[in-house]
Amino acid sequence: MSENIIVFSSEPKKLIYPIGFANILKTKLNLKLTAITIESDSAEELIDKGPDELKLIRNKVIQDQFEDILRKELMGKKTRYVVSSSSYNDTDILARLAGEMNAYMFTDVHDLEIEENSIILKRKVFGGRAISKIKVPNKGVLFITVSSRRFEIELKTQTEMSYIDAIPESRVKLEKVERKVSSGVDISQAEIVIGVGRGFKNKEDIKLAEELASLIGAQIGSSRPVAADYKWIPEDRWIGISGKSIRPNLYFAIGISGAPQHIGGIQDSKIIVALDKDKNAPIFNYADYCIVADLYEFLPVLIKKIKERKTS
Ligand SMILES: Cc1cc2nc3c(=O)[nH]c(=O)nc-3n(C[C@H](O)[C@H](O)[C@H](O)COP(=O)(O)OP(=O)(O)OC[C@H]3O[C@@H](n4cnc5c(N)ncnc54)[C@H](O)[C@@H]3O)c2cc1C
Repeated sequence: MSENIIVFSSEPKKLIYPIGFANILKTKLNLKLTAITIESDSAEELIDKGPDELKLIRNKVIQDQFEDILRKELMGKKTRYVVSSSSYNDTDILARLAGEMNAYMFTDVHDLEIEENSIILKRKVFGGRAISKIKVPNKGVLFITVSSRRFEIELKTQTEMSYIDAIPESRVKLEKVERKVSSGVDISQAEIVIGVGRGFKNKEDIKLAEELASLIGAQIGSSRPVAADYKWIPEDRWIGISGKSIRPNLYFAIGISGAPQHIGGIQDSKIIVALDKDKNAPIFNYADYCIVADLYEFLPVLIKKIKERKTS
């Protein structure tokens, strides 16, 4: 029986980066790759892009049923790695199984190196200010969650598809589903992001950032207080270690001081532009371009100039 990697996500769209990660292990360690997720168009896009096997769950399932399905897949197989996205749900499912199997688990892995008898996993620590390298032995089952956008899919394979129809009964009685207020936009995938911080004095003023965003094709994100405390924008747009990590080509931070918890979510941005009225704001230590100005004076002028350029 050949050794294998199981890549799993309860949300098919989130499989892409774990598969990119697993493809590296598959190629270097000559492992078989089995991907498991819910049947959907995004899942089918993964065919021939790494997985040797793609198993699609046909029915609607919840957390403990995913766990049971995965447990069954792990039984009787020589599984070396179980890889998933770093979403709350996937992390929760993997953590339960890892605990049950007394296996190691590493979360939010953003890079890896492979040596002869071991692999080195890299994780950001201290809010992204340091990288922790963990050398793990190349034996036993290892559970890994992968942080987004690092691992693009490059491998071509032939994928065999099958369906999982036998769904274990849930031990959970689902009484009510209440959706979180969502903006419908995943800012972790945006090419240009404008971050609004407490430099904005009230909700109404965020219109300035929104106007700029519509002119340059940006998505609006924020520091935690603006989303979590003031509730001026949906919570799925807050950036940082306890919110979303972003990786845009351009991040424009406006009225954001640059607390380590915020910086932890923006460090993979290609270019960072920061606007703050305090020249000593820590955000300037991370910015490629620094604008020391009052946002209420600077933004209207910037918006006017962009509009003029667009019409000329
Ligand atoms: C466990 C934990 C997790 C956290 N997770 C996160 C997280 O994920 N993301 C996150 O963002 N924070 C997080 N925080 C909060 C973080 O520590 C900071 O409190 C927060 O990032 C500060 O937000 P801010 O920069 O908008 O506000 P402030 O720190 O108050 O900064 C506002 C900035 O605006 C500037 N300013 C004011 N008026 C103007 C003006 N008119 N024009 C231009 N500039 C102006 C000020 O000079 C200042 O630099 C976390 C905290 C904890 C304890």
